[in-house]
Amino acid sequence: MIVGIDLGTTNSLIAYYSDEGAKIIPNRLGKHLTPSIVGIDGDTVLVGETAKEYGMLYPDRVADVFKRSMGTERKYRLGEKELMAEELSAFVLKFLKEDAEKYLGESITEAVISVPAYFDEKRRKATKRAGELAGLTVERIISEPTAAAIAYGLYEKNKNTKFLVFDLGGGTFDVSILELFQNILEVRAVAGDNYLGGEDFTHVLERKFLEKNEIEEEKLTQKELAAIHFEAEKCKRKFTDADAVDIKCTIGSEEKQLHISLKEYEILCASLLEKIRKPVQRSLADAHIRLSEIDEIVLVGGGTRLPVIRSFIVKLFKKFPSANINPDEAVALGAAIQAAMKERREEVKEVILTDVCSFTLGTEVSIPRGNGQFESGHFFPIIERNTVIPASRTERLYTLHDNQEMIHVNVLQGESRFAENNLLLGALDIRVPKNKAGEEAVDVTYTYDINSLLEVEVKVVSNGEKKKVYIKGNENEMSMEQMKQRMEELSYLKIQPKDQEENRLLLLKGDRLYEESTGDERKLLEIWMNEFEAALATREHGVIADARRVFAKRLQEITDRMD
Ligand code: ADP
Ligand code: MG
Repeated sequence: MIVGIDLGTTNSLIAYYSDEGAKIIPNRLGKHLTPSIVGIDGDTVLVGETAKEYGMLYPDRVADVFKRSMGTERKYRLGEKELMAEELSAFVLKFLKEDAEKYLGESITEAVISVPAYFDEKRRKATKRAGELAGLTVERIISEPTAAAIAYGLYEKNKNTKFLVFDLGGGTFDVSILELFQNILEVRAVAGDNYLGGEDFTHVLERKFLEKNEIEEEKLTQKELAAIHFEAEKCKRKFTDADAVDIKCTIGSEEKQLHISLKEYEILCASLLEKIRKPVQRSLADAHIRLSEIDEIVLVGGGTRLPVIRSFIVKLFKKFPSANINPDEAVALGAAIQAAMKERREEVKEVILTDVCSFTLGTEVSIPRGNGQFESGHFFPIIERNTVIPASRTERLYTLHDNQEMIHVNVLQGESRFAENNLLLGALDIRVPKNKAGEEAVDVTYTYDINSLLEVEVKVVSNGEKKKVYIKGNENEMSMEQMKQRMEELSYLKIQPKDQEENRLLLLKGDRLYEESTGDERKLLEIWMNEFEAALATREHGVIADARRVFAKRLQEITDRMD
């Protein structure tokens, strides 16, 4: 079984294709969303909600939003350890993989992983490597908007359709224009704002809270900031079915609060909402499509659950968006459908996905400099960046000298005018009949497919002789050896065992509540935590399960009381 994974900046999900269609696989805590957060405690790796809780207590031992640095050299410091974005992502993937294996009762070795449409080759490769580090083969990467469109079943429509995918995640905003033509689903344009997301709508509340209570942000500890953030996030979500919310938080030893109505909140969000317009306009302009020609608006990302955003969207598009799927689950579901297509399952109609090639592919040529002189080393584009793929383009190259016997074709990737600044992917030599300069020629055809496989064919025009090379663009930059070595280096880090996850999460919550409370409540927490720890020490399943139920209920009561 091939699974589909949405490896998000804020949240990650894993899905599979069941007899009833695509389905999200709940994680070990029973949740659909796993926060893309990794924490390291000694040799134990914490992922998701547990890592988030852990980060409330030990902010410098966890990393989040690392997807932003995917494919870069940046190292994240977690306590003593240093890890790259792809390695942190590998832990998230491994966590999801383990949960899926438990849930499906079989081992999972292959996945389709989604990435933002604007991710370049480097970032796509880093995503593939993250999969491989987690023990997953990733032959296919799918663009997030394409996946979302597939999840909405838009590819099953028979008529040609144009749609706009509106994705507001935690820290990113992406707009994509897609077009379905016959059974080809094409990404026509992408635009976005890499620094606008649901989190900004939380910050608005945090800032208001600080301002009203006359608190200077610089004077707060990292922990206090985390606590305010936590409360603001909770309140933001309450706006879904409340006209006003209250944020309460203990700073120093004082309880501070903020009462804010939906109307006031909307006003505070005005400048953020304005920022949404630009990428929408740019994507339409790039695709040469007018807003009135868009048949459907597809909502993606948890941020689109915010009522403030919903009403803005209706105003902006003068149309109600499709929202029959949970916006934060659409991408994972689409990736699972794509996985089923890859497996050629009968239930799914195959659709050809296109994407845009994010870089230029070309060759090296010499250009005439007058009086028979040539200057070599110039780049000659064949498939230009942002060309819709799969794509095939042919260019003709001529001999430079009399009696030239060979034409050498370099295959390059990059944007520089000079070949040496671009990346050499491969080369090919072909014999040509002796003739006068410029009388012999070859047709060079580049065919680039959705799996990043580049086929280069060279054909001698005069005699029809052909030669071909395949260049696998997705080859790992790390060699198998290096990859194995890194896997071994990381293997001592073990993801927290599944059966302990819930216990650990509850204890961390207890620790946090202990820090936030005082007096009797604090004493009570101390007793309850000790009781639970004593139960854990018995190592008896029944005893632990009973104690967990009681402990969870007690913590919930305290949380409710503090709200
Ligand atoms: P990403 O694509 O970055 O992984 P998601 O699609 O999971 O992110 O969206 C995460 C964002 O959605 C967060 O900023 C979160 O606050 C926001 N969000 C999730 N649920 C709600 C809700 N009910 N109301 C408001 N915002 C929400
Ligand atoms: Mg997302």
